[in-house]
Amino acid sequence: KISYYNGEFLEDDQVAVDYNDRAVYFGDGVYEVVRIYDNEIFTFEEHLERLVNSAKEIRIKIDKDEIRHIMIQMKEKNKLPNAALYIQVSRGIEGRTHLFPKEGVKPVVLSFINKIERPVDAMREGVKVVTRDDYRWLKCHIKSLNLLSNTLLKQEAKDSGATEAILHRDGRVTEGTSTNVFAIKDGVLHTHEANNLILNGITRQYVIKLAQALDIPVKEEAFTVDFLKEADEVFITSTTQEITPVISVDEVNIGDGIAGEVTKKLQDAFEKGI
Ligand code: PMP
Repeated sequence: KISYYNGEFLEDDQVAVDYNDRAVYFGDGVYEVVRIYDNEIFTFEEHLERLVNSAKEIRIKIDKDEIRHIMIQMKEKNKLPNAALYIQVSRGIEGRTHLFPKEGVKPVVLSFINKIERPVDAMREGVKVVTRDDYRWLKCHIKSLNLLSNTLLKQEAKDSGATEAILHRDGRVTEGTSTNVFAIKDGVLHTHEANNLILNGITRQYVIKLAQALDIPVKEEAFTVDFLKEADEVFITSTTQEITPVISVDEVNIGDGIAGEVTKKLQDAFEKGI
């Protein structure tokens, strides 16, 4: 497998990350994960745009064309028709100091690829989730490398026999640790508005478009944990999880405790494309 680090394409086991890369001790950077289906990068431009915006929010300047080129090269060199491609950009390499590096220090790009399959079992059977307090920072719209809260909370979910932790601030559901959350009540699709409290998932945006094409009303407004538990259907979305039904929240069954009809309709539409 070929990876990319700081200007070079290398065999995976030849990559040596510099310990002075600010990604290492500050998590000072941003990233994207894209899905390759049948040799095509899915929603490529949307991911590129989000990466540039995340970088801008933390004052890292990146060249979108350069990133696009690296990603295409990664795809072509690895020839994995179905894969997840990771790319991160850190603020650069300089001895450890909180202050930004001196002028001239360039951002550093790291990229690797993994062959993956679609999560067909989870998409059919659904998953259990638990709810947790969202104690993350207030800039969740940035796809930052700092994922300590997300990893701690995801592990708590696993430890309680669930797949994902659904986060809430004072009882209002924001998103999952690595997914966006949707609830369906009386035919209306609800999800948190795209603001600083959530990552505006590319899959989230795609699902909203699918819903509109299917004449399913969409309400982008925060809802409560109680509303979530009383919803007719719930699902989570992400680049790798696609549309995964949620069958229980804190051990409370959602609907009949199986994947719901509207969820299935959206999954079908996702499969076919708009
Ligand atoms: N929220 C968070 C916190 C995430 O980490 C992710 C996945 N990276 C998502 C939502 C889903 O985003 P996307 O659909 O772009 O993968």
